[in-house]
Amino acid sequence: MVVGVLGGGQLARMLALAGLPLGLRFRCLDPAPDAVAGHTSELVVGAYDDPHALQHLVRGVRVVTFEFENVPVAATRWLTEHVDVAPTPHALEIGQDRTREKALFASLGMAVPTWRAAASRDELRAAVAAVGVPCIVKTARLGYDGKGQVRLRPGADTAAIDAAWAELTAGGPMQLVVESFVPFDRELSVLAVRSRNGEIAIWPLVENVHEGGILRRSRAPAPDVPAAVVREAQQFVRAVLEHLGYVGVLAIELFLCGDRLLANEMAPRVHNSGHWTIEGAVCSQFENHLRAVLGMPLGSTAMAGGGQATMVNLIGELPARHALLVVPGLHVHAYGKPPRPGRKLGHATVVGAVRSEVDALAARVATLPPAAPGDWGFAG
Ligand code: AMP
Repeated sequence: MVVGVLGGGQLARMLALAGLPLGLRFRCLDPAPDAVAGHTSELVVGAYDDPHALQHLVRGVRVVTFEFENVPVAATRWLTEHVDVAPTPHALEIGQDRTREKALFASLGMAVPTWRAAASRDELRAAVAAVGVPCIVKTARLGYDGKGQVRLRPGADTAAIDAAWAELTAGGPMQLVVESFVPFDRELSVLAVRSRNGEIAIWPLVENVHEGGILRRSRAPAPDVPAAVVREAQQFVRAVLEHLGYVGVLAIELFLCGDRLLANEMAPRVHNSGHWTIEGAVCSQFENHLRAVLGMPLGSTAMAGGGQATMVNLIGELPARHALLVVPGLHVHAYGKPPRPGRKLGHATVVGAVRSEVDALAARVATLPPAAPGDWGFAG
């Protein structure tokens, strides 16, 4: 049974690593000939809207899914005429657009930061006036890992607003979103999976730390979150899954301010803040995504491996290989990507029974020396 995947990055690579033990095989479509899913899957090199590449992708596959949300919706709609696609193009379309996400979240009763849309410089000035400063101006589409965002600090004047407009629309016309700056205490995410017959399973709530807009660390279960907040996050993700008739894994990023939850954005796919589930949960987000899109029964989302997990991202450069591998109990995932500043090159997960011990082992990763060129055996 072959699964088609739009995108050939590390998420597709990890989907294949989870699916091979189930007897599955994979074919990924990616514009880059060196896409790392090519290590674990058949790789079709082509643009996401190239009809020949799409025809090649669907040949003989049972289902097509995607590993990131910036694939053209039109391509996924074309695919639905030839093969099952999950999640649906409709869910993808919402996940691509911050304005549609916020409207959906609000319609389901979830609080979101105060926001306004802006499609011109004058509209941006008006939107900032309405929302107030501090605020964050984001592109409605195509942002990731903190890219496509400008923060306006208290006292920001018209010149600062116009500079934000110039920066964010430098590549062409762009719908923008102005969001109030949320003075959150913590960032959380809730990951859940819905099967074709409507079964839903939710992993324990995750606490995330971002720096420069990039996820650095995730801990699960998020420590010391009031039970009512956990329930609210679970009810919310359930409502989104049911409203969309969703099939697959969905991640929703949340801000926690005191006891108040606000929704930031959703990812209609497996998510970086769920990588800990590979060792930290009975069934990982990758395996459950495959089970869901293929109409198989879901696996348990309960914690495994002692009940506590911490994941750290390896960004920009990998630590020295020997030093990393001798950290006791550390599960290392190197994606086989050449180093580049800001690039996610891998992650490492610690699981255990005692939160402080798990955190202490995970914290060691940040103290390790960087890898020498060639240490990991691939380009640098
Ligand atoms: P995003 O691309 O929306 O996930 O934003 C990346 C990161 O920027 C988030 O994980 C937060 O750390 C921060 N951020 C985004 N939006 C806001 C906001 N409205 N208030 C405060 N911080 C934010």
